[in-house]
Amino acid sequence: MLRETIKDEVVDPVITDIWRASEVGELCEAYLCHVRLGNQPAKMPGRIRHLLDDGGLHEKDIVNRLKQGGFDTLYTGDDQLYVHCVDGDVRINGHPDGLLRNIPEDLRRLDWADERFSWDSVYYLLEITAPNTFAYQRYSQEHLRGVNWRKFVQTHLYLGSEELRDKAHCAVVVVKNKMTSALYEEGLTYDKSIVDTTVEKLKRVEELVARNEVSSMRCSDWHKDNCKFRHLCFAENEVEDRTLPTHGFLDADKLLEAQQLREALDAYVQGKEYESLAKELNEESRRYFGEIIDQYDAEGIFVNQRKVKWTNSSWSGIDTETLKLKYPDIYEEVHIVKPTHFISVGRGKGD
Ligand code: SF4
Repeated sequence: MLRETIKDEVVDPVITDIWRASEVGELCEAYLCHVRLGNQPAKMPGRIRHLLDDGGLHEKDIVNRLKQGGFDTLYTGDDQLYVHCVDGDVRINGHPDGLLRNIPEDLRRLDWADERFSWDSVYYLLEITAPNTFAYQRYSQEHLRGVNWRKFVQTHLYLGSEELRDKAHCAVVVVKNKMTSALYEEGLTYDKSIVDTTVEKLKRVEELVARNEVSSMRCSDWHKDNCKFRHLCFAENEVEDRTLPTHGFLDADKLLEAQQLREALDAYVQGKEYESLAKELNEESRRYFGEIIDQYDAEGIFVNQRKVKWTNSSWSGIDTETLKLKYPDIYEEVHIVKPTHFISVGRGKGD
């Protein structure tokens, strides 16, 4: 019903000499050449359009929560600023998600901030992102820089912009797990070298574009099957056949969700490792508690106000093998088979 209304979208390229801050963190220079040349991207699948639109909803949600939480939140939503990040041979503009002003002292808590971050400013750039749960889990270890380089560059471009450079030298990035609504908050300080490296890269791109050329850079990872310019970089026989079976096994590498599926598998494997480690730790602790309780000939022990004791119990059940052997009629009468439906994950390749 509703799904039928979500159509693939043909995105018409816009030829302009002004770069969008949200795009220039892209590492592939061929991609940037295609953007700058105004080359036609592949159709955007309806599901991806839907997903991107939902990103806007999460941004609004965070802004609303900040306002309700008493934060002085400026230039958000329809009131967003239009900032000039770099001017000169290379021009980059963009719309920051907002500004925070006078953050109350008792609310100045972040999950992580870089070494130069400080709370001595009146204004803080606000940037919001809402990744899936698997990318979200990486934030506490890898931070914005490691998980979302494009957004990291974009944040630095805004901090260095003509409009904000004298007001805010630090940013607060709010990351919302779009599946669980959990929040991760990070503090970033302006680093000019990030902007300089980006401008150098764009100059190389501009030189190629002036000659109507595209960088010879070619990806060899999952981008090859998912990038919107893949049809311009690779011949048809070099790109994976994206026709998907409607029955049988899918190949994750051919799906638009390839990256998320890989992250989901990593999270699963890690969860399994934790599970067996947790089992071992529990067993080890139980064994030790038992030894100490026996050593003191006690019934149990209180540790941090938790009661630890031996518990006697017995297991009762039916020996189905004996029942089947001796009383097959009764076995047939009580034996039931219930269908179950669950996801199992193989242990190795091809399992
Ligand atoms: S398909 Fe690969 S090489 Fe071509 S623009 Fe995309 S990321 Fe770059």
